[in-house]
Amino acid sequence: MAKGLAEEVSMFKCKQCQGTEFQLVLQANVQGQVTVSANPFNEVVVTVGEQEFIADLMFMNQFAVCKDCGGIKCWAYFFREPVSAM
Ligand SMILES: [Zn+2]
Repeated sequence: MAKGLAEEVSMFKCKQCQGTEFQLVLQANVQGQVTVSANPFNEVVVTVGEQEFIADLMFMNQFAVCKDCGGIKCWAYFFREPVSAM
């Protein structure tokens, strides 16, 4: 069974529908296989061919499409664990 990314990659959330599942839309000239995973720090790691980098908000707003509402440029950081107020 195919599993969505949301279970393991929950660093970003759609501001429109609160969804956490996304699809990457990369340019057609990207060579190699694209995979998305999470590192031990719960950061989104994108691997394209031999290159690996950590997705930031700018990357998400450029290349990620929300699976739920189809929104783009709609991402905000989202951390599963509650952040205590200072
Ligand atoms: Zn959405």
